[in-house]
Amino acid sequence: MKILGIDVGGSSIKFVLWDELIDSIITQGKIPFQPPTLNQFFSILNTLLSNFKVDKIGIAVPGTLDLNREYSIFVPNLQDWNSVPLKFLIENEYKIETGLENDANSAAYAEYVLGSGKNTNGIVLLTLGTGVGGGVVLHGELMVGANGGGAELGHFCIDVNGFPCNCGSNGCLEQYVSIHGIKRLGELLDPHRRSLSPQEWSELADKGDSFAKFLWEKIGHYIGLGVSSYVNIFHPSKVVIGGGISNAGEKLLNPIRHTVQKRAFKSLVSDLTIEKALLGDFAGAIGISLLSIKKRGKNYE
Ligand SMILES: [Zn+2]
Repeated sequence: MKILGIDVGGSSIKFVLWDELIDSIITQGKIPFQPPTLNQFFSILNTLLSNFKVDKIGIAVPGTLDLNREYSIFVPNLQDWNSVPLKFLIENEYKIETGLENDANSAAYAEYVLGSGKNTNGIVLLTLGTGVGGGVVLHGELMVGANGGGAELGHFCIDVNGFPCNCGSNGCLEQYVSIHGIKRLGELLDPHRRSLSPQEWSELADKGDSFAKFLWEKIGHYIGLGVSSYVNIFHPSKVVIGGGISNAGEKLLNPIRHTVQKRAFKSLVSDLTIEKALLGDFAGAIGISLLSIKKRGKNYE
């Protein structure tokens, strides 16, 4: 059985063709794209399906889904994807069984099975990119909440009077440690500096720039505030930090570890590790492929 796993992102669409027989990727690709409308997405899907023979489709969606994984409910960064019966539309058009999952949940499952969380009892994944997403896998099960909308770990409030968030709340972690959040944080902390991307701040810190180093301490501290609570709530074996911003590496991970050691329950952090994700850009596409297989009975626990 061959599964086409597609991860719809804010700046590109990533896909893998996964072969269940050999438990591996046959081919993969990344199509640079601004957030696609539904029509644009279907045209890309058309092209992919005309190139590959596929038995099943999995879509990792950057938003919330209904409990039965049939509808995309709230997709803040994709214009006309709210309240869409995506599973029905694709199955009706192509007559191929289709599964949906949230993109960060998919990535968390992939990291648990094949990546940084392999051989653990459970992980919390936090993905830092255009948005801040998260996923929780415990004893082989992806946690989606009682009604399907979990786990939106990027919308943990770190400042009750903080910046308004596009979820409707204020002071969410996403507002401080996403790509846009880090740019704004840099400008706020030193208005005389040019506005820089996380990658530029990372390069500056590596060259020894003391303000850039301070900025990464601050970012790590904010993430650590969120992670401390995730640790207290879920008691994972490991916390995995993914997304493009995690490429900052140890200068980001160390202040996260420091804050978590200080703030989370001591009994819960003694055996905890906090590491970078291993699967990179394709984690979401791999994860939705694995989840499609799991639903057929193959268990990766
Ligand atoms: Zn929010």
